[in-house]
Amino acid sequence: MQKLAVYWSRRDFRLADNPALFEAAEKARTEGIPLLPLFVLEDYMCTDDPRFQFGYPSRYFLAHALPLFAKRFPHFSVLKGKGAESIVSLAAHYNVEVYVNEDVYPDFYKQVKKLTRAGVVVHVFKDQLTVDRATKTGTGKHYSVFTPFKKAVWESFVQTKPCPTPDFSEVSFYALPPEIPRQDTIAPTLEALTAAFPQTRSCMAGDTVISIDALHAEKPKLDLWYTSESEALSRFDSFLKEGMSGYKDNRDTLAKRGTSQMSLALAWGLLSARTLVSATQVHFGESLKNPFSSSADHGAVHFISELIWREFYKYLFFHNPALMYEEFQERFRGKVQWVAPEVAHQRLLLWIQGRTGYKVVDAAMLELAHTGWMHNRARMIVASVLTKNLGVPWQWGQEYFRAMLIDLDEASNNGGWQWGASVGADPKPIRIFNPYLQAENYDKEGAYQKKWLGADRFLSEVEPIVPHKEARATALARYGLSEKRDGFARDF
Ligand code: FAD
Repeated sequence: MQKLAVYWSRRDFRLADNPALFEAAEKARTEGIPLLPLFVLEDYMCTDDPRFQFGYPSRYFLAHALPLFAKRFPHFSVLKGKGAESIVSLAAHYNVEVYVNEDVYPDFYKQVKKLTRAGVVVHVFKDQLTVDRATKTGTGKHYSVFTPFKKAVWESFVQTKPCPTPDFSEVSFYALPPEIPRQDTIAPTLEALTAAFPQTRSCMAGDTVISIDALHAEKPKLDLWYTSESEALSRFDSFLKEGMSGYKDNRDTLAKRGTSQMSLALAWGLLSARTLVSATQVHFGESLKNPFSSSADHGAVHFISELIWREFYKYLFFHNPALMYEEFQERFRGKVQWVAPEVAHQRLLLWIQGRTGYKVVDAAMLELAHTGWMHNRARMIVASVLTKNLGVPWQWGQEYFRAMLIDLDEASNNGGWQWGASVGADPKPIRIFNPYLQAENYDKEGAYQKKWLGADRFLSEVEPIVPHKEARATALARYGLSEKRDGFARDF
């Protein structure tokens, strides 16, 4: 049988710092066997069943980014099917050795198991999580609080160097014939991929299907997003030069483009976190090894700290995959008394449409609907309001974000939602954001709200569907907490 070194690309559409691709190319070069780069367009991505959420922005991104990535190889194959099963079918015709970058989700390990059970040799490379997943506290437990985790991993995180870019000069590539028995292939083109995807948009709220098309007739405008490694790198380069030093001061201002917008690049692996850290170190000198050094740039230190939040959520998720649907804090697991499902549904629909009457929330929900992205401060506000003020389960908000975000990262999304609902890995007592104070602090002139609501709506008088004062008391009761006993005087 023909021997092949297979590079199985999943969420790593880049040549730089791509450990699986580098090793696959080395294998092909040193042993003189052809390299077969491939992507499996999985069935769940092509169904309109919202239980297997692969939202419209994810489809858009994949349809645009995959062809650009494929063009970087003389031949690139896209199989259509069920992840590892497609590769097992291929192994009936070829002697394959698979190289793949790891992520942190249970499905990935299931896929790897399927391959090894079928006798396929698989090499898995550390990628999405840069820090050591086995990192433990002094008492031998996994970390559950961010700040001590950050202190523990900082040095190794900033010192991990990107791996070399593969040298394809002595590598031959294999072109799969269009017809392979028991195997569907699809051309890596925008047209073919777009045709493979459903056009409808929906998500789940509990057992109910919500039609997003019915709530937002227009699809988001996504063509301003970057879709290739080189575009992502050039955006980051501009941010390094123009935005990084002011990052700490500007990142929370809703109307400013004060953040890097690298979440999309990281979510789909157009760039690795190691590349971002390494470029930041080159730009600012090696001072970032010590975040407390007086010569370290504050903006850059804060940026790296945010990248470690991403690591933290992946680390948590790896060790607790049940977090997808259940609360990190045991005391709240299944115990929060959300409002009755019919009320929660009505409120969720108003929240999705940007009609809660809290202007900053409504503006943020429209930003998401129009762009497939939302500012981090706004994500925190809308998550707090949905759960605390409106009493809607955080899992429903999480599902809507899964359907709508172009930068969807399951672990960060889940971590953000659990944090917003005060049920996650956060030592603080329940935080109830006051949307008026948040708007005052982070959108003082109202520029963000005006942008998304329009000047008339911004200036109009409007009552929220649940007044904030009332929300505070009922939220505490819902969580089984009391203001007096548990002391929650502070309003954010
Ligand atoms: P920057 O401020 O430039 O930060 C740089 C990078 O650090 C980001 O790209 C991201 O990788 C990481 N980062 C920053 N803040 C966080 C954070 N709070 N948690 C984890 N990583 C962080 N991020 C996603 O990448 N995908 C998601 O699906 C996602 N869902 C979220 C849902 C909620 C409810 C909340 C509160 C936050 C969510 N976040 C998510 C985190 C954060 O909002 C985004 O990473 C950030 O807004 C992306 O913009 P940026 O790249 O300009 O960030």
